[in-house]
Amino acid sequence: CLGEYDALSAVWCSCNPTHPTKVCPFCLQCFCSAPKDYKDKFFKSAPKELLDDFEMFSQSRGPLGEALVRAKAITADQLLQALKHQKATGRKLGESLVELGYIDQETLSYFLSHQKSVMQMSLKDLEVDPMLITSIGADYCYEKAILPVNRESLSQKEILTLAMAQPSDGETIDYVQNVSGCQVVPVQSKKEEILAYLMPFISTKSADSLESSAQKEITQHGLSVIRKALAKGASDLYIEPLENEISVQMRIDGILYKTSPMPKEIQSLLVHEMKLLLKLDPFLKDKPQESRVVMKSGEQKYDVIAHSLPTRYGENITLKIINRATFLKSYEQLGLKNDEILLLRSVLSANTGLVVISAPVLHGMTTTIYSLMNEMAQEGTRKIVSMEFQSVCPVPQVTQVSLGMKNNEQATSTALKALSTIQPEVCIFADSVDTTYLAKEIFKLSASFLVVAGLEARNSLEALDKFVEMGISPADIVSQTTLVLNQRLIRKICPDCRQEGSLSERSLYLMGLTPQEAKSINKVSQGEGCQNCSKLGYRGRVAIFELFTPTPEFKKMFVKNPKDKNLEKESIKGGLKTLRQKALEAVKEGITTLEEFQKGNF
Ligand SMILES: [Zn+2]
Ligand SMILES: [Zn+2]
Ligand SMILES: [Zn+2]
Repeated sequence: CLGEYDALSAVWCSCNPTHPTKVCPFCLQCFCSAPKDYKDKFFKSAPKELLDDFEMFSQSRGPLGEALVRAKAITADQLLQALKHQKATGRKLGESLVELGYIDQETLSYFLSHQKSVMQMSLKDLEVDPMLITSIGADYCYEKAILPVNRESLSQKEILTLAMAQPSDGETIDYVQNVSGCQVVPVQSKKEEILAYLMPFISTKSADSLESSAQKEITQHGLSVIRKALAKGASDLYIEPLENEISVQMRIDGILYKTSPMPKEIQSLLVHEMKLLLKLDPFLKDKPQESRVVMKSGEQKYDVIAHSLPTRYGENITLKIINRATFLKSYEQLGLKNDEILLLRSVLSANTGLVVISAPVLHGMTTTIYSLMNEMAQEGTRKIVSMEFQSVCPVPQVTQVSLGMKNNEQATSTALKALSTIQPEVCIFADSVDTTYLAKEIFKLSASFLVVAGLEARNSLEALDKFVEMGISPADIVSQTTLVLNQRLIRKICPDCRQEGSLSERSLYLMGLTPQEAKSINKVSQGEGCQNCSKLGYRGRVAIFELFTPTPEFKKMFVKNPKDKNLEKESIKGGLKTLRQKALEAVKEGITTLEEFQKGNF
């Protein structure tokens, strides 16, 4: 600005403690970045006293003064006073600073002991606490090319060592000082090293906006593998070190796909990077770990449950990926038909009883239970508690209670006891209740309120049979169970390459259909394979359901003999539409193939 000021009484700036300039008292700007002409003119016309001071600065040797000014532990003016004091008394600079009361002895010792490493720091082999980075904000660190490397407590204050590509960036130091509440000690490090270190932590958004190609070259295998899995809509990602390579597999629509393996050389880097990214402890290598992180890709938010597992050739990393936007579905989106929704709604509105949601492993049981939970919660009229071994994602207005580790009866029983204090109206067990202990508990609970529980089973009758095997009395089973919903996921034919054809009744018969079933089919469809379905002929999966409500006659037979061979016939007589019938309908409607029907072994 044009304000004229007395340069002699103005304060020195802290930009560069060996060549400072004066700070204008009106606009608070120094003229470090002014043209050389201006500086020359300024110093030429400056009073001798000022020049002496300047001389004093440039003659101050050793990094201590500079480090203290850069760290904003003292001002440039204080440094000048100390330098003068030093000259007058012959003391050391540090002692002078303490004597003048600018810093305390402890801070001085800290700076002295760190002096060697203070100005230049290599980040190779450095171990940084990820929490430090997140406490300041990884994206901010990345943008400013800074890396918090160490935090230490002195009695008076906390010291944060901050690696910076530009240690003279006072604004950034101020910011970090504010958010961390620490005295920041800046050290100089290479920008590439800082950025490479931060890469696993930054959000994909800033990773997408990486500008220079040099930055793009920085290794980020882990991030790119995960992003690929997210983009492809994978539900699981498996990274498994083998003897000579690293296998990468993802599950899409329930099918496991191999993608190109990665070279063994990058294994340690890849695993380290992924563990940081997934908030697993990268230095704990000989124990299995579990973590949950929320990841973003574009607008989508994903809940990721990660596991690391030591194996013979290194650590396996597996990810379970849940897309929040599409995970919770409405009844219609689940694929339930109108009459099925009505039946489901009516049993779910009861005050007591047991609704069993069953499916084989990997056939969408969890999705269905969470979706029912969400639908019930949205009605907002009842208090809903979900008892979970492993929470998959948060559901609004549902109290989600941890049952502890599976097979830990102690923890489970403690959690169940807490139920009475919560006094729910609906209690949901999203995991398969496949232990005798849990099964007995849910039958007990279902007398007091509505219980919805998962159970791994291939069909409704098998689900009931499993309860028998677990020691529940057949009478209790049929008196409490109001509905068994069993589901199966089948692959859908790709709509872009579907072809219709026909098969003779005889060949249908040979493929395992009953003569009656064979007669009912007059066309079959399949996908030829095209670009949109990666030449698979299938795209996506759809759930088929059987909803079983025991009739009085069925109950009588079941109590008499739960192994009665005629139970299935009786259930069909009572109105059950079996999974086999549902799957065959899907074949007739051209939704799926005969091959998929056979594979389902209904
Ligand atoms: Zn000014
Ligand atoms: Zn300056
Ligand atoms: Zn296709």
